[in-house]
Amino acid sequence: MGEPVDIEELGEFGLIERIKGSFRSRDRRLIQGIGDDTAAISTAGDKAILITTDLLLEGIHFDLRLNSAYYLGRKALAVNLSDIAAMGGIPQYFLLSLGVPRRYPVEFFNEFFRGLKELSRDYRVALIGGDTSASAGKLTISITVLGEAPRAQVVGRAGAAAGDQIFVTGTLGDSLLGLKILQDGGNPVHSLRRLPRVVRKHLDPRPRIKEGRLIAEKGLATAMIDLSDGLLADLSHLTREIGLGARLWREKLPLSNYYRRNILRFEKDRWNLALAGGEDYELLFTVAPAKVEPLKRLSSRFDCRLTHIGEVVEGKEDLKVVDKKGKPYKIDLHGYDHFRTQVIS
Ligand code: ADP
Ligand code: MG
Repeated sequence: MGEPVDIEELGEFGLIERIKGSFRSRDRRLIQGIGDDTAAISTAGDKAILITTDLLLEGIHFDLRLNSAYYLGRKALAVNLSDIAAMGGIPQYFLLSLGVPRRYPVEFFNEFFRGLKELSRDYRVALIGGDTSASAGKLTISITVLGEAPRAQVVGRAGAAAGDQIFVTGTLGDSLLGLKILQDGGNPVHSLRRLPRVVRKHLDPRPRIKEGRLIAEKGLATAMIDLSDGLLADLSHLTREIGLGARLWREKLPLSNYYRRNILRFEKDRWNLALAGGEDYELLFTVAPAKVEPLKRLSSRFDCRLTHIGEVVEGKEDLKVVDKKGKPYKIDLHGYDHFRTQVIS
């Protein structure tokens, strides 16, 4: 036996890789198993069922001093819907599991369910079951969402090719900037109306279901992912993981007006959060050159902006952010990994 290795050494992705390696499936209906935003299983009638689950742990994913139960209820479902969006699917049902500390105020759940119910109505997803238990530690919330897409339209993470163009919906870095503002103020959240937009984006992300579906329906993306861990980290799932690199055009990164005006109050570097900030829940996707014009036309139907931010290139280690003159911008960032801080490049 060798030295015992802590999970910290392995990292979140290392642990998932181990699980993936030891549970390979030969099931012929499985279109997508471990390693994508959702699993996809083909069913009768040329459809695929999409399934995804997410854990929300008090003290890790949320802090009730900075959040409210109402927004937590909305967000707990929203982050799962975002994974369905990233496959081009339509969410339909969800399961809710709770591990509840014995001394939790009932008022928390009234508010949590109010938020959860509102979002489930907005996106027409029905709660169909779950599990409830006492928790010896903190509050644990787990949501599993089921959705569907025509089988031929499911968009995975692994389809990009060199020469494909990289697009992103919405703006980047707002969610983490919003969190920093909340941490700075240190006040609990009562009314979102008085809070800056970026704070709203952090507390109440809107999954891009409509945009994901449009992109998938028209067959415009070769690969797609939702931005949960930050642009560079999530881009590496579309490129580095399949042996490709990317060029990102720094000046093209879509920044909100609020971000532009306020970022330097919180960060020394203007681009840091846009490149590495997590939880934006935008869609990042790659598009074959011939589909760029059709995509731009389609984007008039989006509820958010669409930005062409770069391109896929050959070479696994070749991920570069370049400035206006094409000069490489030194990336000095840390991606988010639950067990350790991982240097992206
Ligand atoms: P996302 O950020 O889109 O939710 P993750 O990075 O959490 O995706 O997970 C990547 C992939 O690994 C997904 O396909 C997910 O289902 C799978 N995965 C994560 N944790 C486990 C686990 N404990 N057992 C099996 N599969 C897992
Ligand atoms: Mg995802």
